[in-house]
Amino acid sequence: TIAVITIDGPSASGKGTVAALVAAKLGFAYLDSGALYRLTALYAQRCGTSWSDEAGVAALARTLPAEFRDGGVYLAGEAVDDAIRAEEIGMGASAIAALPLVREALLERQRAYRVAPGLVTDGRDMGSVVFPDASLKVFLTADAQVRADRRYKQLISKEDSANLPRILQDITERDARDAARSVAPLRQEPDARLLDTSEMTVDLAVAAVLGWFEQ
Ligand code: C5P
Repeated sequence: TIAVITIDGPSASGKGTVAALVAAKLGFAYLDSGALYRLTALYAQRCGTSWSDEAGVAALARTLPAEFRDGGVYLAGEAVDDAIRAEEIGMGASAIAALPLVREALLERQRAYRVAPGLVTDGRDMGSVVFPDASLKVFLTADAQVRADRRYKQLISKEDSANLPRILQDITERDARDAARSVAPLRQEPDARLLDTSEMTVDLAVAAVLGWFEQ
């Protein structure tokens, strides 16, 4: 079987950065599953489909014209890296992610990223639902304040309108919704290793994951 490392955790925990670096180190593919939810939310917005229209959004998710190539994210051929990172689209992603038909529509697409020699993936339910047989499951987290600071620094490098208290509030709200939903709620799986990066550099977090994988 093809090795899979899943890294699940709350918003802005740094799991995407760690997952991408672990994948590069091992020569594995990398799947940012949150990007698929963000792309679906953006696509729905552009198609004029309400985020609360479960059947409508699921239909869009099934045929999502999304591509990951050259380190970028494309929707119908257009680069949307910045557009999907907007806080509004993050909230939309969290709203549509609570809809069972939408999650089901994205399931097989996510599993198709499992290619030799291996896959590193990050999200909320990678270890619980999408790849329950993963070789290594990690639950990567950090204090909410630390996560808000990290997201703030990321946003301020691209735009000048980032607002720290607002980001902290958005993160807390999104975590609460992701943890409370009935399908694939955000939580640490019993067989996942806990990695709290509140006081850890990216390099140390990457080394911890690689160490567990090589055990
Ligand atoms: O990780 P990211 O912040 O990009 O994810 C955006 C939203 O997509 C999350 O708040 C969560 O609701 C949803 N998501 C999910 N399952 C995943 C990945 C993301 O429900 N595997």
